[in-house]
Amino acid sequence: MLVSAKEMLQQAAAAQYAVAQININNLEWTKAVLTTAQEQSSPVILGVTGGAAKYMGSFATVTAMVKEMLKALGTTVPVALHLDHGSYEQCQACVEAGFSSIMFDGSHYPFAENVAKTREMIDLAHRNGLSIEAEVGAIGGEEDGIVGSGDIADPEECRQIAALGVDFLAAGIGNIHGSYPANWPGLDFDVLAQIRAVTGGIPLVLHGGTGIPTEMINKAIGLGVAKINVNTECQLAFAAATRRYIEEGRDQQGKGFDPRNLLAPGYQAIKDTVKDKFALFGSIGKA
Ligand SMILES: [Zn+2]
Repeated sequence: MLVSAKEMLQQAAAAQYAVAQININNLEWTKAVLTTAQEQSSPVILGVTGGAAKYMGSFATVTAMVKEMLKALGTTVPVALHLDHGSYEQCQACVEAGFSSIMFDGSHYPFAENVAKTREMIDLAHRNGLSIEAEVGAIGGEEDGIVGSGDIADPEECRQIAALGVDFLAAGIGNIHGSYPANWPGLDFDVLAQIRAVTGGIPLVLHGGTGIPTEMINKAIGLGVAKINVNTECQLAFAAATRRYIEEGRDQQGKGFDPRNLLAPGYQAIKDTVKDKFALFGSIGKA
């Protein structure tokens, strides 16, 4: 059964670890994440962007696949199905489709409009038993067509959005989607501490978890980050393993062309990446 992400993140924040949000793209991704979470006794959040849902069919297609797979795999660890960077319309569609959590990303609106729309989405989510994440200050880089400039969030804006009753908050502190450039200045921990001080202890969310050094992850968790999003890293691991399989000519040996064989190394690579993230974030054994 899918659960809201609220309780799992409150527990994580209290015990100073973070729950991974791993974005899914297809059946193999979903199965790799769910089996690894179960094996490692870790809670997990499955992230779905609007683009990924469209690719898989619809939000309802994703819900049906995930719910049936939880049953088929006998999953007992807490799993949330979460809309990543949702628009106003996508949030409504995910409530309809049976998601257990949504992110309303109003960070590109003028602040007053972000406040008004976030307030409305909080009401919608809570009326239907879903948890909700909001965002202040754009996150840099590009993810599924969403391009952010990498602003540093204004702590006063974070205070106002948190006060609306949002369950967890994403705030840009120099983090970016995709891989980090060599000249990246790092996370702004002063701003993170200021945000922490004025947001009433709600769990904070770090987007763009691919390639942030271990010390920065640990420091961020110590300052209230309880959810870290990982997307690109699984894609890179999947692609590298699949490339190796084909370059070694294994698809041309025996039944190597069978998709269940062809996709197996990529599947394993996702599992290894997810396990590494659980270990890094401290969530192993916390389910
Ligand atoms: Zn993001």
